[in-house]
Amino acid sequence: MSSTKKLIVGNWKMNLTIHEASVYVHHLVTKVQSHRDVEVVLSPTMLALQPISLQIDRRQFKLAAQNFYWRDHGAFTGEVSASQLRGLVDYAIVGHSERRHIFHEHHKEVRSKVQAALRNNIKPILCVGETAHERMSGEMRDVLHDQILGGLTNVTSSDMSEIVIAYEPVWALSDGTNYSEHKVPTPDDLKKAIGTIRNQISHLYGEKASKEVRVLYGGSTNGSNAASFLSVEGVNGLLVGGASLNQHEFVKIIETAHGMESK
Ligand code: PEP
Repeated sequence: MSSTKKLIVGNWKMNLTIHEASVYVHHLVTKVQSHRDVEVVLSPTMLALQPISLQIDRRQFKLAAQNFYWRDHGAFTGEVSASQLRGLVDYAIVGHSERRHIFHEHHKEVRSKVQAALRNNIKPILCVGETAHERMSGEMRDVLHDQILGGLTNVTSSDMSEIVIAYEPVWALSDGTNYSEHKVPTPDDLKKAIGTIRNQISHLYGEKASKEVRVLYGGSTNGSNAASFLSVEGVNGLLVGGASLNQHEFVKIIETAHGMESK
């Protein structure tokens, strides 16, 4: 598998005011070491992206948008486009299960957003993952196949180096507070899912792309369980929800990633 840096992404979701986010970052910069083997990405509320961009050193933290609209401009009241985020963020989360399930975004929206991100020099973090029901019905592979194909239709081989895939089983996602006691995949479960994802990338884009694409795990990660996920073959990093709002946990996750050999 690729020996890329570990990628740790903190998705704060709809939490923290601009002021609270700024105070959080003010403390975080003093606690997070810049490690050459770990890339740390913060994904605050859209409103806080600009002020935080002025607060951080881009060598220490990168920024990700949690969402955006796929058209570049026009009469779309209330929306923010990838072209407006261009230069401000390095990454954007696309296809998160909360967007798929609460806001009914399906393959068409997901693939349009992947395209919009790519044409605006933003790396899409494409989230995929099965629900508890789909898992119980033995549909995990089919769901991952559909979501990957749905999101990556129109993505060329040369675009693949910009794509990050996050495996986020919906049944493992916390509510933002219960990430320490929530059910999570076993290393074997995770290895199987990551293998499924990489096999499909190999099928679509070839062996090289399948080895090089960065694949993250997300779902109730915290400072105590991060190592067990990061040591699964083919996992290049973590997408962290609830625990990224807790400085102690988030710093512990980053420190855990630091020095762990990529498999
Ligand atoms: C998420 O929703 O992307 C996520 C990983 O959340 P949590 O870590 O809280 O399960």
